[in-house]
Amino acid sequence: MIAFGEPCSAGKHGASLSVDAARLRTLAAVAPVRDSEFVSLANALGRVCAGGAVSQVNLPPFDNAAMDGYAIRTADLSGSGPWNLAVSGRVAAGDAGGHPLLPGHATRILTGAPVPTGADAVVMQERVFCEGAVIRLDHRPPPGTNVRREGEDCPAFSQPVTAGQCLTAPRLALLAGCGMADLRVWRRLRVAMFSTGNELQEPGLPLGPGQIYNSNRVMLRALLTVPWIALTDLGILRDDASAIRATIREAAATLDVVISSGGVSAGEEDHILDALRRENATLDVLKVAIRPGKPLTVGRVGAALYIGLPGNPYATAVTFAQIARPALRRAAGLTETPDMMIAGVAGFAYARTPSRREYIPVTWEKRDGFGRPILIRLGVGASASLSPLAQARGVAALDDDLTQISPGTPLTVEPLLE
Ligand code: AMP
Ligand code: MG
Repeated sequence: MIAFGEPCSAGKHGASLSVDAARLRTLAAVAPVRDSEFVSLANALGRVCAGGAVSQVNLPPFDNAAMDGYAIRTADLSGSGPWNLAVSGRVAAGDAGGHPLLPGHATRILTGAPVPTGADAVVMQERVFCEGAVIRLDHRPPPGTNVRREGEDCPAFSQPVTAGQCLTAPRLALLAGCGMADLRVWRRLRVAMFSTGNELQEPGLPLGPGQIYNSNRVMLRALLTVPWIALTDLGILRDDASAIRATIREAAATLDVVISSGGVSAGEEDHILDALRRENATLDVLKVAIRPGKPLTVGRVGAALYIGLPGNPYATAVTFAQIARPALRRAAGLTETPDMMIAGVAGFAYARTPSRREYIPVTWEKRDGFGRPILIRLGVGASASLSPLAQARGVAALDDDLTQISPGTPLTVEPLLE
């Protein structure tokens, strides 16, 4: 934590933090949401479990057949086979138990049906010979064969999902299987976003002289449109120190996180840092050894986290993925970290000056003998370019000290989700 005014190792004129150090400092500045609310399963997809969801029933609720076949008592198969068993009774899924299994008999049973009292195995119908109301068995199945035991999937009084887990489709299915109709989730993270720049115009409107279209707004909106965020889009702010300051103050007073793009460099039209200073922000990150995206500001205004992303769209995208997304996930109460890295190899040559970790857009069509994608580099590293990332299948991370990349050099890639 660096209070403004103190000597600052991450200051605009000081040394840059490594990407990992910047991420750690940002995560350390995060206070996760602690208020919770009940939601029904139908509304829980993608929300964050707040804990305390205790199942009241066993899953499965009773011993049941995993196959269509015959329920038997394995102890009836004494001596050497084959064995003949008379079939008495039939039980299908949804039937209420049926009669206990008579000694030396079998019960016709269908998948999902309750295993009759006294039976301890289900023999697949494909593995018996039927002769009228008698089945002949030439193998002895071990006890428990094709029986799904009561509670083996999820026992009563356990927690099917725990605090911090994202409610994915399989987890919702598990909760439903346990008969739980609703559960407590952390309230949505309240996030505000805005773009800065006098040059910005919204798509669909005519461009004036010197104007460009606002790419970051729609990109950040898309990146922030997740079930665990309640987003407030504050649009475009002009490069006006007092307007930016007022917006930051108001947003930080009521919301958890404020994210902006642009205005974090050291030019005289970059007002974010000055606004944060005047709002008595605690500044955690000011400069990061990342390419693209070196100017990046993370701090706290009151209880709110502030993340000032750079303005160039590719830099915005990279710093969002590397710094903002992990911080937002933590702030929302998520405790699991997705591991999105895959191993690839360069299919290109690139000599670089070591200093910053560089993220380059890549795509691939072929794989090497180990199944690793052979990466094709897209674009020429211009942080303002939109096309390379739009065409990319992933982003390759080039470590700070990697100077020479040749065809075959191993590289890690973060695949893009869509
Ligand atoms: P800044 O950090 O404000 O100096 O912006 C750096 C570069 O990114 C400038 O060329 C800006 O015009 C451009 N830029 C800033 N914000 C956006 C945006 N929302 N969409 C597209 N380009 C932007
Ligand atoms: Mg600007």
